Parts: sequence; structure tokens; C-alpha cells
Amino acid sequence: RVISPLAGSPKEEAIERALRPKLLDEYVGQMKVREQLEIFIGAAKKRAEALDHVLLFGPPGLGKTTLSHIIAQELGVNLRQTSGPVLEKPKDLAALLTNLEPNDVLFIDEIHRLSPVVEEILYPALEDYQIDIMIGEGPAARSIKLDLQPFTLVGATTRAGMLTNPLRDRFGIVARLEFYSAEELARIVRRSAGLLNAPIDEDGAFEIARRSRGTPRIANRLLRRVRDYADVKGSGRISKDIAERALAMLDVDPQGFDLMDRKLLEAVIHRFDGGPVGLDNIAASIGEERDTIEDVIEPYLIQQGYLQRTPRGRTATLAAYRHLGVNPPRTEGG
Ligand code: ADP
Repeated sequence: RVISPLAGSPKEEAIERALRPKLLDEYVGQMKVREQLEIFIGAAKKRAEALDHVLLFGPPGLGKTTLSHIIAQELGVNLRQTSGPVLEKPKDLAALLTNLEPNDVLFIDEIHRLSPVVEEILYPALEDYQIDIMIGEGPAARSIKLDLQPFTLVGATTRAGMLTNPLRDRFGIVARLEFYSAEELARIVRRSAGLLNAPIDEDGAFEIARRSRGTPRIANRLLRRVRDYADVKGSGRISKDIAERALAMLDVDPQGFDLMDRKLLEAVIHRFDGGPVGLDNIAASIGEERDTIEDVIEPYLIQQGYLQRTPRGRTATLAAYRHLGVNPPRTEGG
């Protein structure tokens, strides 16, 4: 997928880092979250305390990692970054926690993938800034309590529903990131184009923005592909026309749907009579993992009203039929 919203290769990540806004004021959109954070960060700074623990959730590429860096920057503290699957043993987490300086931010990405034994360690750390660690082995083993510096955990997850209740309850600030509007994405595209020294028209930026599935990471990736196209097939300037032709070449349609999106909608409509169909059946039918469908592909289709989630499975909406140019089935009695 050219425009996967998932984090990419080290090179992609380096470019992404360069495009990351550093301060809350440069962070486009997400007004509600930004307003909340501004107040809570201001208060924590004034009292010289650690900020309450923050849980950020929402689909990949919407700016959770970026926001965690901004939080640390605005607080004027260090950021330590890790992820759920990387922390295999309690001692991995203990090592990180005991090395924090006062009021530091610890960012755990994919926090829903923490193993239960590691999660256990986290509870007293979050609540009382203490951890219990085991020393020695066998009959001589004993547990000792260690005091930690006050710190802020920023956890990120694609689905808040996958967190255990005791973990979720320990976050004082819970923020859901929303898909971005085309206007907001156009601002991000123009800003990134500026940083990349890529000349771009207003219309060109908007064309990229409205085809970016509401996702900044995709907007930045499309921008770079379109810039390549402009350099080779045009004068280097990104106009609306250049953007349209480049995006067509990348199989991104005018709604911003790519091959995977269309494959999913086609499967639901043609193979399952429009649904309802369960996720596992869709996954088998399009050869994609269930989690990827749930985290990456379907949230935008649902938000845009092309797919519906019902207790009996997913159904295609009229908009989906129209988008694929297929006649919708007649409803009973209609
Ligand atoms: P996530 O952690 O949610 O997967 P990231 O924080 O890694 O997403 O963001 C992906 C890219 O999108 C980053 O390169 C960042 O520059 C850009 N980005 C995300 N949110 C914003 C925003 N609100 N304003 C500007 N750029 C953003």
C-alpha cells in the first residue's frame, strides 16, 4: 500500500520526524484535545507537578506520537519512548521507570499490547510512583518496593476498548483523536510542502488533502509522491492538475479510497450481498488481517458513511453501492 497510514521504514520515519510539529500551537486541528491539554499542561507547570497520565486513542497516523512529544516539549521535560510489544518482561519496564527524572513523560505506544505481568508493575507506578520488584530466586526471592520520581505516562492505542479496565481507570486525561477535515489537512500539506521546499498551489494542496482519508500521515506521504510526479512529469510545481494525475496513478480515487478500501467494499457488496457479514469472513475474502481491517481500513469507511457496523456484522450503505457504480438491491416492500 503506497499510502498506508501505518508507520513505515526507518527512512520514512526520519522524514516523518522532520515534518512533526514541535509545539501545541503548530499542531493542526483536534481543537478539543488541544484546549484540554493546554490547560492541564499549564496547571501542571504552574504547580511544578507531573501532568496527569494521558491516554490517546484513535486510528494510526492521526498524531498520537506527535502529541506525546509535544506534551514533553511543552512541559519542558524528557520523553522516553517505548511500545507495548517491546516491553516483554517486568524488568524492561522497571528499568525505564527507575531512570525517569522528575515529571518526565514516558510514552508507551500500542499500550493495549502490554503483557499482563508488565501491566501489573504499571499499576502501583501510576498510582503511587512506586514499583514492587522481585530480588533473588527460589525460596530466597523477596519483593522490595522502590520509589519512583513523579512522571506522566502517555499511552497510545488504536482502540480504547482493548485496554483492561484497571489500566484505563488510571488515566486522568483520556483523549480521542478524530479524523481531520480536508481544510485541516490542506494546512498540514502546505506546511509540509514548505519544509520540503516543494512549491504548491492552494488547489494542489487541497486535492491532496481531500484524498488523504482524514489522516495526516497519509497526507504527508501523498504529498511526497505527488512531488516526485511534479518533478518528473511537470515543472516541479504541485498544481491541482498534477495532483489529480499523480493520485490517479497511485490508484487513490476521488474519495481518497485506495485499492484496499475498494476491495473491501466490493467484497461486502458482491460476495456477501451487501452484508451483514462478519469481520472474519471479510478478512478471509480479501486476504487481509482482521486487526488491520478493524484498526486501519474500516474506521474511515465507517466515518464517511460507506460501511456500517451492526451487531450481526458489516453492511454496505447506499453510498458504497453508488461509489462502485453498482445498483443497490431493492429493500423488501420498497
Ligand atoms: P500516530 O502516532 O497517531 O500513528 P504520528 O504522531 O506518528 O501518528 O503522526 C504521523 C505524521 O503525521 C507525523 O509525521 C506528523 O508530522 C503528522 N501529523 C500528525 N498530526 C498532525 C497535526 N495535528 N498537525 C500536523 N502534522 C501532524
